[in-house]
Amino acid sequence: MQNITVLGSTGSIGKSTLDVVARHPDRYRIIALTAHQQDELLFEQCRQFCPHFAVLLDEAAAERLRKRIAAAGLDVEVLCGNEALVRVATLPDVDAVMAAIVGAAGMRPTLAAAEAGKKVLLANKETLVLAGHLFMDAVRRSGAVLLPIDSEHNAIFQSLPHDYAGNMQHSGVSKILLTASGGPFRNTPLSELQNVTPDQACAHPNWSMGRKISVDSASMMNKGLEVIEAHWLFNAAADDIQVVVHPQSVIHSMVQYVDGSVLAQLGNPDMRTPIAYALAWPERIDSGVAPLDLFAIARLDFVAPDFERFPCLALAYRALREGGTVPALLNAANEIAVAAFLDRKIDFLDIPRLIEAVMGKVVRTEVHQLQDVLEADTAARIAAQEWVERNSK
Ligand code: NAD
Ligand code: MG
Repeated sequence: MQNITVLGSTGSIGKSTLDVVARHPDRYRIIALTAHQQDELLFEQCRQFCPHFAVLLDEAAAERLRKRIAAAGLDVEVLCGNEALVRVATLPDVDAVMAAIVGAAGMRPTLAAAEAGKKVLLANKETLVLAGHLFMDAVRRSGAVLLPIDSEHNAIFQSLPHDYAGNMQHSGVSKILLTASGGPFRNTPLSELQNVTPDQACAHPNWSMGRKISVDSASMMNKGLEVIEAHWLFNAAADDIQVVVHPQSVIHSMVQYVDGSVLAQLGNPDMRTPIAYALAWPERIDSGVAPLDLFAIARLDFVAPDFERFPCLALAYRALREGGTVPALLNAANEIAVAAFLDRKIDFLDIPRLIEAVMGKVVRTEVHQLQDVLEADTAARIAAQEWVERNSK
């Protein structure tokens, strides 16, 4: 029996995680569930999974949840705030932590889970973008087991040698081939991109996801963040990570070896596959995902990424190469830009403009400790907000 904390249980990844867990009550027990402010859904999840703890970030929402829990006679302790997130990510009786909070907000509890030596199921890619060095050091020091949930990184993990120890050359790996769907605007005329709406950006052709990552997929910033994520997870240089646009999203990524072999992981685009893989690793369990019907798919296409159409991808490669706090600046500026776009304050094409302006304005420093990252994150958010105010529609 594995005891699990799900950080961000009301989100897209959180719900998929609980769907897989519910299929295997003999293997997994939920110890804690957390959410930002969705107390109604969290209450339903508490009723179904009877965790020891439920955490909300928002005080008023926590109070509402406490009342409902009491009225229903459930034995669930309701906690509130960021410290509580860290607490439930590090409880002594928790074996595994699903890190599925969106954005930089997920970094503290995710890092804490790694420091506490937990099995970390990492969906929150922003943690690696912001503090990859510190996070990977924490994993090594504590002996935490790190399993990528992001479908591409999960596929790469599955396609690397099982004893891969972070040295591509030593393992005969020549390249990591990171696949990308190209999102909803892969073929949209460039002249129309200026006027696309948040709903159009969130209508992903293959995946159903939260709104932030959906916009990131439309701008291909998601792939950029994933290049940085792959760098940290697999110790791969920017030049060793090739983005391959593959519109069907059937191949979830590939590893190319020096002998000419290319190993890939395929499956229907459903996050329950990587989630089930990580939950059960090194075993395999049923995920509820339908078997892949290759005859129905019939063909797989591949094209090179278009850096002109998707400047966010180029900005992410640049941030990875510049290193230090630059990826943190990129991430923070992107979070503000995406929120402003979703609020209809800026246009879709303003997203890369804003990020480039912030990367040019806030001074890069080295990352020695968490404080360096937090300061860069704050400075970039301030600069990004100023940009939004100056350029609001
Ligand atoms: P989502 O928006 O659907 O859910 C986010 C969850 O985090 C919710 O439970 C929400 O309540 C919680 N949350 C939001 N802000 C918070 C805050 N400030 N403090 C505490 N909790 C907060 O997001 P998602 O699509 O499930 O994505 C979650 C993470 O997984 C992201 O980092 C994303 O990049 C990554 N990811 C998602 C997918 C996917 O298919 N959705 C695929 C790969 C990676
Ligand atoms: Mg992905």
